[in-house]
Amino acid sequence: MIDTKQIRESVATICQKYGEEYWRGLDKKKEYPTDFVKEMTTSGFLNILIPQEYGGAGLGLKEACVVLEELSLQGAHAGACHAQMYVMGTLLRHGSDKQKKEYLPKISSGELRLQSFAVTEPNSGTDTTSIKTMAKKTNDGWIINGQKVWISRVEHSDLMILLARTKPQGALPKRTDGFSVFLIDIEQAKESGLKIVKIDSMINHHSCELFFDDVFIPDESIIGEEDKGFRAIMDGMNAERILIASECIGDGKYFIEKSVNYAKTRKIFNREIGMNQGIQFPIAECYSQIEAASLMVDKAATLFDGGKKCGAEANMAKMLAADASWKAGTTAMETFGGFGFSKEYDIERKFRETRLYQTAPVSRNLILSYIAEHVLNLPRSF
Ligand SMILES: Cc1cc2nc3c(=O)[nH]c(=O)nc-3n(C[C@H](O)[C@H](O)[C@H](O)COP(=O)(O)OP(=O)(O)OC[C@H]3O[C@@H](n4cnc5c(N)ncnc54)[C@H](O)[C@@H]3O)c2cc1C
Repeated sequence: MIDTKQIRESVATICQKYGEEYWRGLDKKKEYPTDFVKEMTTSGFLNILIPQEYGGAGLGLKEACVVLEELSLQGAHAGACHAQMYVMGTLLRHGSDKQKKEYLPKISSGELRLQSFAVTEPNSGTDTTSIKTMAKKTNDGWIINGQKVWISRVEHSDLMILLARTKPQGALPKRTDGFSVFLIDIEQAKESGLKIVKIDSMINHHSCELFFDDVFIPDESIIGEEDKGFRAIMDGMNAERILIASECIGDGKYFIEKSVNYAKTRKIFNREIGMNQGIQFPIAECYSQIEAASLMVDKAATLFDGGKKCGAEANMAKMLAADASWKAGTTAMETFGGFGFSKEYDIERKFRETRLYQTAPVSRNLILSYIAEHVLNLPRSF
């Protein structure tokens, strides 16, 4: 039996060493938390899903969720380092033994960072099967042409997982066939013509646009079977949704804790604002919603770790937790009144950060559409 309490306490200790001023400062200067990510790696928390034989902790998704929830609860920005956990499933399940032996020990030790995955394109967005980036086979490798957008942490990663077409759209009968997944050495790709352009965005997420112009990558970069890459990426997506849901639970708890403390101490009309039910009730409602969403996250993670089907639960967990954290963020802004807008209180920073999960990596609408079609058997709408 894994002691998740101990994981929580150890993660909290690291976070407290950095404090919220650290995140506020980075947010202001749009800088990356290099020291924090290093410490999380060397302490073994970012390698939690890597099997022990490759130098990782070999734990399950449930334990990984505890790490991300605690990071968020402590006011840290888990978005800076969560990708390594999200993409691990793709590499573990579809990578060759050679790839796993070569990369996983180095990722475990922190020698290599796998913090970037490139799926989204400017003209396809949510409709992933319409991506245009093309990898063409040559004698000794692949030539990549195309464009990606919103690719986070690419400047702070050594490796990137890329989804590209290996057959033109419509060439194969199944619309999810004809894609392949590649593990790319970012420095090598830059030398071969990969251009990276920063996007100035609402949160400190280090997202970029990528331009592939005849970029060569060697043969052995392909992960899994040629033309079957969509499945390999999808395999990692349930884990990603559950992990993001746990970040949202942490964000929600953060907002509730801050709101409660502020409501107990802020005096207006000679009494604590927390005495007003107009302030109490929304916080109590958020608390109930976070607790309920947390049960769904737990259910989804248990199914995932047990190797059971969990598509519906992973999607519902992500939507419920993201909705609950967004509502808790709005409630915290309300509780703090004007001071919610002040950078010093960190509420506005976390409010901006948690908003992302309404949209990425999958939007609320797309989750509802998944549930309608795949769980309720309603007609397909697109
Ligand atoms: C900060 C940030 C970081 C990101 N990091 C990464 C990353 O590291 N790697 C990566 O690959 N991607 C990343 N993304 C991309 C993210 O996954 C996409 O933004 C998201 O999937 C939505 O795609 P889109 O922005 O093109 O929206 P669109 O697909 O253009 O959709 C716009 C709106 O229309 C709605 N919509 C579209 N179709 C339908 C429909 N049929 N029914 C109902 N509603 C619909 C959507 O729900 C959405 O609200 C990131 C995005 C952001 C903002």
